[in-house]
Amino acid sequence: MSKKHLRPLKTPVYRDSGFRLEDAGTTARAFSSELQQEPVPSHYIYSRYRNPTVVAVEDQLMRLESSAWALLTQSGMAAIDTALGIFHQSADTGNWLFFSEIYGGTNTYIDEVLIRRRGIRAERLCPEHGSYGAGIVRKAMKKFRPRVVFLETVSNPMLMVNDIPLIISIAKEFRAAVLVDNTFATPYLFRPLDHGADLVIHSATKYLSGHGSLTAGVLCGNNPAFAQQAVAYRKVVGHMLSPDDASRLGEQLKTFRIRMEKHCTNASLLAEFLEAHPMVERTIYPGLSSHPDHGLAERLFKGKGFGGMISFELSGKSPDNKRKICNRLIKNLSEHIPLIPSLGDADSTLLPVEPVWGDKYPYPGLIRLSVGIEPVNDLLDLFREALESL
Ligand code: PLP
Repeated sequence: MSKKHLRPLKTPVYRDSGFRLEDAGTTARAFSSELQQEPVPSHYIYSRYRNPTVVAVEDQLMRLESSAWALLTQSGMAAIDTALGIFHQSADTGNWLFFSEIYGGTNTYIDEVLIRRRGIRAERLCPEHGSYGAGIVRKAMKKFRPRVVFLETVSNPMLMVNDIPLIISIAKEFRAAVLVDNTFATPYLFRPLDHGADLVIHSATKYLSGHGSLTAGVLCGNNPAFAQQAVAYRKVVGHMLSPDDASRLGEQLKTFRIRMEKHCTNASLLAEFLEAHPMVERTIYPGLSSHPDHGLAERLFKGKGFGGMISFELSGKSPDNKRKICNRLIKNLSEHIPLIPSLGDADSTLLPVEPVWGDKYPYPGLIRLSVGIEPVNDLLDLFREALESL
């Protein structure tokens, strides 16, 4: 069969590290186009710069986030580094403001990379009475006048929901760029770019891939100047995703919406069950009317659901007693619901909070549960039995 008759449905996995160029003239044109970081390269040159398989999956992600461009990176942390790399370029980088309720790895990156190694003036904003209201955000903006504001849509592990449209509108009054890590909400529930965010970041390791089988990150935006700078930065630091991982992510993305729908409905039913159970002291889930941000989550997520993450605290007479009960529950569930320090997989997984975040969230009976897409009655039966046998 000739190549003319071969029309694959999927973009093939181009494992080539370098691509064939015809002659000196094409080489000159290819490198000059590459230097201008055109959104679609005139020629593919080298896979650390751009790769056709990766570009095909970036197109899928653009449609999901409804963004003008999307760039894949080899991890969520690499996407964060690429996003912030855009703002490193002058000697005076100004102040950067980070919400304190963000992923622990990002917090370590702020201290170890931004502050210690790069000398960035990074400030942290703590919530007041469990939320980031307009008052404290405006006060911080007036005080620090930051160039960059970084926050997450839904926080981990306390599942606080941020009023992103409100925070963006305040930040814009002060001409700050707003970067939103949307890993927990995902574009299924909420798209920060629609509300004026400058950049959106995901750990694609989580819900976007959804099978716990690869590590990847995504950076999306609408501003072409940011795209050019991010492409240039990703290239020089070598944050590019491999074509094999990109291709698998592309396949997994095809079931993203249907997976998210099921994550959300399963989590809602399980949260109601846990909240009503006598062995559970409190259940934190934005879909419950007892959650302080329930109304806000309803407004932002527009009836699509409330996500797949639940945190719940077991009852106990003392901190030690809670620790023991927590360990027993983890053991009772372990055959079906493993303790895995990741989230967003098709399979339910859990993580005790105290051993990971004990300094910040000292709650010995608190468990973070990533609800999978299993038949919900199986999940309810598993929890019913495991809680009864405590
Ligand atoms: N952002 C959030 C909200 C996360 O939860 C994580 C990882 O857990 C990251 C970023 C980092 O992603 P990765 O592990 O893919 O580098």
